[in-house]
Amino acid sequence: MDGWQFGPAQELRRAFILDDTILGPIHWYHPGKSAAVVMSVDDIFPGTSASAYEAGGDLDEGALGHLSWLLERHPQLQMTLFVTSDWRRISPAAHRVWRHLPWVRDRVYLAKVLPKGTMDLRNHPKFVDFLNAMPRTEIALHGLHHINVGRAVSVEFQHQDRAACAAMLSEALQIFDEAGVRHVRGFQVPGWSCSPSLQQACRDVGIEWVMSARDILTPVSRDARTAMSGLNGVSLLFPERIAPNLLHVSTNFQATSAPERAFDILDAGGILSVKAHISKDVPGHTHLDGEDHLYMNYLDRLFGDIEQRYGDAIEWTTLGKLASSLSAASETIAETSAAKDVAAYRAA
Ligand SMILES: [Zn+2]
Repeated sequence: MDGWQFGPAQELRRAFILDDTILGPIHWYHPGKSAAVVMSVDDIFPGTSASAYEAGGDLDEGALGHLSWLLERHPQLQMTLFVTSDWRRISPAAHRVWRHLPWVRDRVYLAKVLPKGTMDLRNHPKFVDFLNAMPRTEIALHGLHHINVGRAVSVEFQHQDRAACAAMLSEALQIFDEAGVRHVRGFQVPGWSCSPSLQQACRDVGIEWVMSARDILTPVSRDARTAMSGLNGVSLLFPERIAPNLLHVSTNFQATSAPERAFDILDAGGILSVKAHISKDVPGHTHLDGEDHLYMNYLDRLFGDIEQRYGDAIEWTTLGKLASSLSAASETIAETSAAKDVAAYRAA
């Protein structure tokens, strides 16, 4: 979310990926469909307007109500809500003085944080009930606390090894389960960065698909590859198996994108992957794709235009459904690749 880029991603990916015949972009739709639309919303947690900022906690009276309005307006639209298990970040902006002190900055939180447990989903049953009851909506994971020590406050998974990543993911999923969150096996990486260790950890805990790359600038083509936030070099338009049994879908559209980008993506037969953040203004930062009336009205108009222009040729789906349909279509591939898992771990 902060434009943080995973520098050596290409090199690490090359080391991680062993077999190009198995890994790579997947072009597949249901019969009669030529392209697809998915929409996802990040940074959802029980913060209310009485907290530092509202992030879904006001339920129908707040940001989630705006999403419900959009869903009502477009009966084909579906959504993926990325929810954090125990959100602790108050501001994504590192403290001005501390961030220049080498020893300190690598060992403490450089931004204001909430005490552990404040936004733990197990303590917010009405919020969980509301999310679970939203129509045509699935819930997936967006980190445990969404914070880290050091200057990149939001990038929760940075230098942890595979075991540490897996422990954090397990704790986050345990909170989901104990809170009764009805969720799918997907993960939007907090702060976009998705290292090989994190990719391995995802598979260790049963996560089947991830979103890491966000690229809203690279020109659209079927072969376009991401070069902005998160993973570089993955498909801009198509789901891609980045490791055996782990799919990736890129974000390629947001509030600042022109409608033509959406049409170009759909004309190329790609997945139009729209991203929003549940809050527009947070202390020290404004999300350009933050949910406000302007962005909701823009999407309302855009989705209406897509419905008119493409009719039934568009598959309106969720990331989870897309991933599971691809897995189901690729059982043989998944079986073939299973034997290579051990070698893949060693290579990374
Ligand atoms: Zn986030």
